[in-house]
Amino acid sequence: MIGLAYCDDAGRIYFDDTYTPLADGGIVREADLDELIPAPAGTVEMMLPGRRPLTTDGVLEEDVAIAAILPAGYTRLLVPSYDADPAAPALPLFGYTFAAVVEDQLYVAAVKTDESDDWKPRLFEEGELESILDARLAADPSNRVLAQVALCSREYGCFTAQNVFLERGEAALPVSPKCNARCVGCISEQEPESGLPSPQTRIDFETTAADLARVAVHHLERVPEGIVSFGQGCEGEPLLRSVTIARAIEAIRGERDNGTINLNTNGSMPSALQRCIDAGLQAVRVSLNSFRPHAYAAYYRPIGYGLDDVLESIRIAVARGLRVSLNLLTHPGVTDDVDEIAAMDAFLDAVPVHMIQTRTLNIDPAWYFAAVGRPEQTLGMREAIARIAAHGVRVGNFTHTH
Ligand code: SF4
Repeated sequence: MIGLAYCDDAGRIYFDDTYTPLADGGIVREADLDELIPAPAGTVEMMLPGRRPLTTDGVLEEDVAIAAILPAGYTRLLVPSYDADPAAPALPLFGYTFAAVVEDQLYVAAVKTDESDDWKPRLFEEGELESILDARLAADPSNRVLAQVALCSREYGCFTAQNVFLERGEAALPVSPKCNARCVGCISEQEPESGLPSPQTRIDFETTAADLARVAVHHLERVPEGIVSFGQGCEGEPLLRSVTIARAIEAIRGERDNGTINLNTNGSMPSALQRCIDAGLQAVRVSLNSFRPHAYAAYYRPIGYGLDDVLESIRIAVARGLRVSLNLLTHPGVTDDVDEIAAMDAFLDAVPVHMIQTRTLNIDPAWYFAAVGRPEQTLGMREAIARIAAHGVRVGNFTHTH
């Protein structure tokens, strides 16, 4: 029995299993019990202001809809359905997931898709993180990359930035203040008319190859299987600075031959990617929300490139023997649209990437559907994930060294 979880205007959460909630998978419908799991540790319940829950008995005018925000390592299968007041405030950029009650317990529409100690929530003693940052900054005071990732560690709790100071796992190497896309849900720069703050403030300067290389070499000296990654949440598109990245890679490989040099990118510039590969790039993670040109363009709003360039970059990286992951920005109703899965299948048949990270896209579902459209037919997110695995492609959520 799936019952309704909702809250009141003060945010107090209630369960009522006399109502059957409706979920949204692009098509509003009841959830299947086997699409739900008990809310995992680290789940955050979130009130959806100005939005009323939809049930099989209609809209509940007196109640407020809720959603769950999943911890890392899970992929969302359904989003909440709601009836929004015309004056309802825009929802901030989070991965809203359908939540309901089963046997008096909160359940969420999700599946576990990855595991990594490095991505478990981190708890620092009072002042502990600060002292680690200060000690390192004092050792290289002129390094602006170090100053930037210190800010990201402190202000945004960014794991890959903190890893630079904790000397573990994947370390962040931000490069570019500019971008050649205008993603509807950009986390580093939102357009004023969106009415939404971006979760992070985009860097406003061009980092140097010398600063980047010093941070990377320090990391690889201490983390034998470490990953150093250009392209982070706090910046624009790194390929716009491929000359600097190539110089940094040459400087890193001039001192260290261990670990992995990775690039997170929107894949917009195949020839710039070639330059980085020629310099010694070993792995690349290309972000996209769709394998269909119209849905890609509607979300990324690309400037001077298109989905074809992105797919060409992926082909080149696979052909050059890099470790290739796709950062698939998933959203129920889009990722599992029958035409989307057909387009993905056709691409993966021809281009065998190593891994697809099924990243939950952080955006107001109504906003996203308004941008890319609702489906006529879906196969369900579990089917979409199964199709990826059927190509022998690893499904996960994190960049792994092996
Ligand atoms: S590609 Fe990245 S930085 Fe550029 S607009 Fe999209 S999310 Fe923002």
